[in-house]
Amino acid sequence: MKQGRLFVISGPSGAGKGTICKELISAGIADLSVSMTTRKPRGIEQEGVHYYFVSHEEFQQAIDEGNMLEWAEIYANRYGTPKKPVLEKLAQGRDVILEIEMQGAMQVKKSYPKSVLIFVLPPSISVLRKRLIDRGTETTEQIDLRTRTTLEEIKKIKDYSYFIINDDLASAVDDALTIINAEHLRVEDEAEDIIQRYEREGI
Ligand code: 5GP
Repeated sequence: MKQGRLFVISGPSGAGKGTICKELISAGIADLSVSMTTRKPRGIEQEGVHYYFVSHEEFQQAIDEGNMLEWAEIYANRYGTPKKPVLEKLAQGRDVILEIEMQGAMQVKKSYPKSVLIFVLPPSISVLRKRLIDRGTETTEQIDLRTRTTLEEIKKIKDYSYFIINDDLASAVDDALTIINAEHLRVEDEAEDIIQRYEREGI
């Protein structure tokens, strides 16, 4: 059984990475990993769907027991990827998408070098700011803080393999599909299988 691929999608908050991931998941292209977080649920967020909402103690315990693929602290809350479900899905041949911020992405790149890192960009910083305001989930101070750090985050794009500028959702999803398809056409792990397939013809 061929291993699935691990795709890591990061980018500034409000760049639309969540929406792109949702489209890929609902099209059955890949499975999304459900993260664990110490932050409180917002709006319609559901336990086990959007996040596993846990206490600081439970989060620390998961780290101590080696159960996290990666984790990071953002604005006084912790976020992380439980290791087991991701490894199980990859072993079943399913592609998995992690929608995580950059500190976590770097940990995944190190511990799972075959992972594919994709950076989602907003068309501009002013568009991003407007999206955050329209989303209405954060206070003005939080939005100010997030937009101030955006440029610093964008400078980290050098650590990524692919980028998507999310101007129009449909073409951003198309770009993501192109990247995923290209990764499945890599020779690397396939070389032996390909050679054997043609050798079997015995001509
Ligand atoms: P929010 O609180 O808006 O849901 O998420 C804040 C940030 O945490 C976003 O940039 C999101 O991508 C990131 N995030 C969500 N889950 C994880 C995770 O499991 N690990 C890491 N490193 N970041 C995460």
